[in-house]
Amino acid sequence: MSTKAVTVIGGGMAGMSAALALSSQGHAVTLIEQHERLGGKLRQATFGDQRIDCGPTVFTLKPVFDRLFGLVNERIEDHVNLKQANILARHFWLDHAPFDLYSNVDKTCEQVDAVFNAQEADNYRKFASQTQAVFDTLDHTFMQTQKPTPLSLTFSHGLTGVLKLWQTQPFKTLWASLAKDFNSPHIRQLFARYATYCGSSPFQAPATLMLIAHAERQGVWYLEDGMYSLVQAIQRLMEKQNVHILLNTKVTNIASNANGSVKSVTINNAQTRLADAVVFAGDTADLTAGSFGKRPQQAVPSRTDASLSAITRSELATTEGLQLSHHNVFFSDNYPLEFEELFEQQRVPSHPTLYVCAQDRGDAKDIDGPERLFTLANAPATPLSDEVIQQTVSSIPTWLKQYGLALESNVVPKSDSPNTFAQLFPSTQGALYGRPTHGMMGSFQRPGSRSRLKGLYLAGASVHPGAGIPMVCLSGMLAADAVQQDS
Ligand SMILES: Cc1cc2nc3c(=O)[nH]c(=O)nc-3n(C[C@H](O)[C@H](O)[C@H](O)COP(=O)(O)OP(=O)(O)OC[C@H]3O[C@@H](n4cnc5c(N)ncnc54)[C@H](O)[C@@H]3O)c2cc1C
Repeated sequence: MSTKAVTVIGGGMAGMSAALALSSQGHAVTLIEQHERLGGKLRQATFGDQRIDCGPTVFTLKPVFDRLFGLVNERIEDHVNLKQANILARHFWLDHAPFDLYSNVDKTCEQVDAVFNAQEADNYRKFASQTQAVFDTLDHTFMQTQKPTPLSLTFSHGLTGVLKLWQTQPFKTLWASLAKDFNSPHIRQLFARYATYCGSSPFQAPATLMLIAHAERQGVWYLEDGMYSLVQAIQRLMEKQNVHILLNTKVTNIASNANGSVKSVTINNAQTRLADAVVFAGDTADLTAGSFGKRPQQAVPSRTDASLSAITRSELATTEGLQLSHHNVFFSDNYPLEFEELFEQQRVPSHPTLYVCAQDRGDAKDIDGPERLFTLANAPATPLSDEVIQQTVSSIPTWLKQYGLALESNVVPKSDSPNTFAQLFPSTQGALYGRPTHGMMGSFQRPGSRSRLKGLYLAGASVHPGAGIPMVCLSGMLAADAVQQDS
């Protein structure tokens, strides 16, 4: 094994994880980020001295981060102020009583019994063990493995494991599976929403995505100093590991030598920097768009289908009428229509489901006065007119009022849309999660850590194992492992 000069392109969670892992292996690492700060989609909106997380807000799968910090002999608890949530999320409907989902199965069963009925509580208990079985089947052999295929997955499970794989239900949609598991349309809708965690529709995503229910049950954590404290912690560790971090610097070309392997990157269309290996941790759509030259363009398959985008609203506001938890979901009354509008009609839903993160609240904490709120509605990954965006952002309080939540903003809210996401993350058209996980093969179509171009490695939400901060963190560590294996 030799140590290499490795350039990581992209300072999101995937690129930072790759850089930290590579530095722990002894490589000389340079991390290049085009924006003025690290974190990528993990961002904050600022109102005076108040900061609101306006990217990811749900922190799950802590063991993935334990592993990342462990690579440099550190513990995440010593760097980030973590508190485990008791209530995973509070759910509201227009025609049904609110419902709290807990990390504890018994507590959730009690709640299902009280808010729905005993039969549904029984159904939930079965669902909980089914989702655990799916998670356990796929955790090591799929999520933590370089580019699995249906065949490699079958081999890794052996003959006895084939039945277990079958039980992950790749052939059925999440929606169809939930229709069998629960009688209540409200509970079905609640778990169907997990498909949107990877920018997908529950009407097209495989039932396998039910494993997210188990991932959440293993623990949702509040980061008491905000999600961005995770970026700051990893940045400090990278600095300690002597990772060379270049901000406000855009990679504009990836060049290879005569024998077809990567030899350098060009930054800001001007300066060339030699590299033995490059980890690209942006969206692969930018590679296939030709932004880095001809050879990198052919290094990965191009994709045509786009995952979801979002319209978001961040603000300081007073609320009245409903008791919010930290994570809250206000469901639309017509889920099939909502996803038809998003994916087939490519328009903002006429009545979107809204996710509201009340960032000052814990499980039971009440708030007096203005609080930090972040609201997200799914949107198609397509350019939208300013009028549609403005109308959606300003309709959010009106929609919330229908559920009984009065919201009065103390500031001019800040928002993001497919248009701003497209500007921030090139060639994505605002799609936030790479390729959607649709159909049985959806999970297998993302490229793995190695591209077709020798010396060019991949990490991030558009590659295996997919979107979400723990997943991209895994992809960064997988890319580092691939560089190490090839050294
Ligand atoms: C609104 C929103 C809510 C979300 N909610 C959750 C949640 O609750 N929980 C969860 O787990 N996940 C959530 N996600 C998804 C999660 O944020 C992403 O999957 C993850 O952060 C993606 O990380 P990444 O490193 O792959 O990509 P990115 O964060 O997009 O980082 C890529 C970086 O590469 C840089 N880059 C690209 N090209 C170049 C270049 N040529 N030169 C230099 N730099 C370049 C970009 O500027 C960017 O900083 C959410 C996402 C959004 C947008």
